Amino acid sequence: MKLAKAKKAKAKASPEPAVVIRLTAEHTLQRTAKRFVSGSPTRCPKCDSTYIGREPAFIHCRLCGKLARIADAPLDLQELWELRSGLRIAS
Ligand SMILES: [Zn+2]
Repeated sequence: MKLAKAKKAKAKASPEPAVVIRLTAEHTLQRTAKRFVSGSPTRCPKCDSTYIGREPAFIHCRLCGKLARIADAPLDLQELWELRSGLRIAS
């Protein structure tokens, strides 16, 4: 029974025409805008929880674990914060 269904599914699946996406700067900016959070959010962008912690460059959700990058936040401050918090081993 399962094999018959699998064969039917394979037979139906015809190769779809490929879509070419040009990698322009605007395209990249649109994609990153979806991943970045702006301002000072009070809720997790993924699960909408208010149980979040603010790090210098990220919003860390303590419920689902999402790390959302804050737009325009410097990563060197994040690195320094992680070193001082003991999250990284300083070398
Ligand atoms: Zn969350």
